[in-house]
Amino acid sequence: MKKQTFAVIGLGRFGGSVCKTLADAGQEVLAIDKYESRVNDYKDIATQAVVADAQDEDVLRSLGIRNVDHVIVAIGEDIQASILVTLMVKEQGVKYVTAKAQNEYHAKVLEKLGVDRVVHPERDMGVRIGRSLTSKNMVDYLDLDSNFKLAEILITNPEFVGKSLAEMDFRDRYGLNVIALAHSRQEMVLPSAGDVLTENDSILVAGPTRAIDKFEELMQ
Ligand code: ADP
Repeated sequence: MKKQTFAVIGLGRFGGSVCKTLADAGQEVLAIDKYESRVNDYKDIATQAVVADAQDEDVLRSLGIRNVDHVIVAIGEDIQASILVTLMVKEQGVKYVTAKAQNEYHAKVLEKLGVDRVVHPERDMGVRIGRSLTSKNMVDYLDLDSNFKLAEILITNPEFVGKSLAEMDFRDRYGLNVIALAHSRQEMVLPSAGDVLTENDSILVAGPTRAIDKFEELMQ
C-alpha cells in the first residue's frame, strides 16, 4: 500500500484497533483523544498521539488536519461530538473521511455530511457472526458491495467431490469465479483448471450475493 497519512479521532475499542493496524502496516498515523489515559496507550504505537478535544475547530486547524489524506472519526457513544467533528473535518477539506456510526440515524446524518465511508462495526460483526452460526458451509465472507461478495465455502456435497474445477464450470454454471482453493483446510492456493475437489476442501469464490447464497445452499 502506498504510504498515506491518517488521523484517528477517538481511541476507543474501534479507533484504537484501527490506529494499531495502520501503524503495524507502517502507515503514518496521528492519534487523537480527549482523554490522556487513552492517548498514553497509543503514544508508542502511533506516529504522533495528541490529547485534544476534536470538537474545537482551532485545535483541528493547529493539528493540520486538512493535510491528512484520510481521517477516521471513531467517536461512537457521543453522537453529537461525532457529527460536529465530522462536519469540521469535511469543512477543512480532508480528502477522505471514514466515520463510525452508532445507529442508522447517525449513519444517515454522516452520509448527508458527505462522509466517504460510513462503518457500522458492531452491526456488521453481529451479522457476520450470526451468518457463520447459521451457515455451516460458509466459513467466512466479505461483502464487497451491497450485492457482491467474496466467500469461503466448504465443499461437502458428494456431487462435487472428485470433479475438477474445469468440469465444474463454476463461471457458466453458478455465475462464480473461483479465486483460491484449500485442500482439507490447508493453506489457500491459486486454483488450476485441473484441480480436483475432495471432501472438506474449501473454495474462495467471488460473485453476486444471490449466486453465492444459491451455491452455498447446494452444500447443505
Ligand atoms: P468504542 O465503542 O469504539 O470503544 P467509544 O465511543 O466508547 O467507542 O470511544 C470513543 C472515543 O472517542 C473515546 O476514547 C473518547 O474519549 C473519544 N472522544 C469522544 N469525544 C471526543 C472528542 N470531542 N475529541 C476527542 N476524542 C473524543
